[in-house]
Amino acid sequence: MQTPASLVEQRVLDAVDLAFESTVAHIQDAVRRPSVTGQEGVVQDLMADLLRALGMTVDVWEPPHADFAQYPEFIAEEPPFVDRPDVVGIWKGTGGGRSLAINGHIDVVPAGDEAAWRVPPFGAIRQDGRIYGRGAVDMKGGLIAAIGAVGAIRAAGVRLRGDVMVQCVIGEESGGVGTLAAILRGHLADGVLIPEPTGLALSPAQGGCLMFRITVHGRSAHAAMRTEGESALEHWYPLHRALLDLEAERNRTLTHPLFHQPNIVPFNVGRLETGNWPSSVPDTLVASGRFGVLPGEEMDAVRLTFEQTLFAAAKRDPWLREHPPVLEWYGAQFGTAEIAPTHPLVETVRGAFTAVTGHEPAVEGVTWGSDMRLFTEIAHVPAILFGPGDVRWAHYPNEYIEESELHTAMRVDALAILRWCGIAE
Ligand SMILES: [Zn+2]
Repeated sequence: MQTPASLVEQRVLDAVDLAFESTVAHIQDAVRRPSVTGQEGVVQDLMADLLRALGMTVDVWEPPHADFAQYPEFIAEEPPFVDRPDVVGIWKGTGGGRSLAINGHIDVVPAGDEAAWRVPPFGAIRQDGRIYGRGAVDMKGGLIAAIGAVGAIRAAGVRLRGDVMVQCVIGEESGGVGTLAAILRGHLADGVLIPEPTGLALSPAQGGCLMFRITVHGRSAHAAMRTEGESALEHWYPLHRALLDLEAERNRTLTHPLFHQPNIVPFNVGRLETGNWPSSVPDTLVASGRFGVLPGEEMDAVRLTFEQTLFAAAKRDPWLREHPPVLEWYGAQFGTAEIAPTHPLVETVRGAFTAVTGHEPAVEGVTWGSDMRLFTEIAHVPAILFGPGDVRWAHYPNEYIEESELHTAMRVDALAILRWCGIAE
């Protein structure tokens, strides 16, 4: 248990409470701008205004595509870089403290089937202590709450020793180009807080995933004589089964002290395309998906295991033995990230959490990808995930965030910033 909040900390927490309503309004404003990956421009002027209103120096730029040539693992089948600026705000400290970057992605995934929503996906409706809408959880809520925390520190008249930076980045959902661009532009700090929705748990470890595409070739025939064809769909079954078995085996044999989910290395086929006519035997199938990786695993070794499993299964099928599937690792490859649970950055957020809530936070790894790995692997600076909201509602109809969690996150963020950067005398 940390010492109770000092008088300065108490003053800042009071300022957070005062700023909460306006922070909710800013989140609603941002959710109403459908910044689906590729169209982030619709919200970035708002983010730049929010940061300027805090007196920050704001850098707005369009990441040049050429910058990314040597980093294919962060580039998915990417929309063009037009009207997709990154926005970074900097508040200079008085000197002598550690700097902190708050990094949040401003892109969201599409709303999907609107009929599955009982609220307008970009309406930002506030109801029963929640804010609804695509991006409320993932992750405009957490990012704008952290911005609100910075504003509260300034409103309380506190100066910090270390710099505070806020990075509102594009393209996280497609691989992380926005954060990569911010790093390449030199926007770095001694520590990074990423307010992705961890449900207020501290996550110093993040699993990764490999994106794959498998093509199975069969032979077409009229459905009336279907046994004369070779259905690509039916030849896919044994491959899918073998990969599910591999996932189960990895869950039985792999362990990590921070990962306790029922499935720590999820395998998912998210897209299956096959056939072109109800009365034809499908001659081609394309399965696309992701294969989970645990921190500590070598990406190449995991790829090899996957390949061996796939092709061994193909060898057991007479048709596939002669017509093996084609495997591609395509688009972004989401590596893992990890810092020690005893790292000072983790201890700082843990202490802030305990001071605000009176109890210890959960410390656990997450199985989903984020930009954390870009900081630990490319920039070599420590990063931690900590934010409000339940990731189960991310990418889901009726996505929402609880206001009470937002408020707690904002208070914890404020104390964490004060303690990491240091209060100037
Ligand atoms: Zn996210």
